[in-house]
Amino acid sequence: MTAKETILVVEDEQKIADVLKSYLEREGFSVVCAADGEEALRLHALLSPALVLLDLMLPKRSGEDVCREIRARGNTPVIMLTAKTEEASILGGLAIGADDYVIKPFSPRQVVARVHAVLRRAAALQPVALRFGGGRLVLDTAARMVYRDGEEVTLTPSEYSLLLALASHPGRTFTRDELIYLALRDDYEGYDRVIDTHIKNLRQKIESDLKQPRYLITVHGVGYRFGGGET
Ligand code: CA
Repeated sequence: MTAKETILVVEDEQKIADVLKSYLEREGFSVVCAADGEEALRLHALLSPALVLLDLMLPKRSGEDVCREIRARGNTPVIMLTAKTEEASILGGLAIGADDYVIKPFSPRQVVARVHAVLRRAAALQPVALRFGGGRLVLDTAARMVYRDGEEVTLTPSEYSLLLALASHPGRTFTRDELIYLALRDDYEGYDRVIDTHIKNLRQKIESDLKQPRYLITVHGVGYRFGGGET
């Protein structure tokens, strides 16, 4: 299964954002751009990107603010893009949790190299498995494999992406539109009920009681959340 890693590019200068997007897409990443700090935080929460490229001088919320908030939420790697060459500002950025920085003007190749380096470092620190229900359901996120009671479960790429999106945020309710965007971006054909069909198929594969799902919980009138297998 090949779900692409998503990079969130936060940059208000359209030209720079476009160049970064095209270089990163050529490297096989899926790229989403935000043009201000608020959009950056919204998309970060929605997409859980593998990495954030973050300009410091932004409309609405500063890059420093955005970085602090991303750090408060978790450990998404952040590379700062900064025109500020003062040592103090770079050290300040690293102090609030950025993983690395690139000084403008930069070559896109240099940014791509940093992205790979930071992702490699982050991968070495990532937990490789998400375990639920006392280990009865396991997502091996490195191998993109799912196990139920120790047996491998065969999922389609869309089902895997959907399950990963939900299981990465136990307890959080997602709308169908959010799930479409997260899981089906590339092959979505236009009906939000398609999510219901995927959920139905997933339940048959991972739930032991279809009448009382433990993992894939319907939130009536809204969408779905991942139950984490608690009873
Ligand atoms: Ca800027």
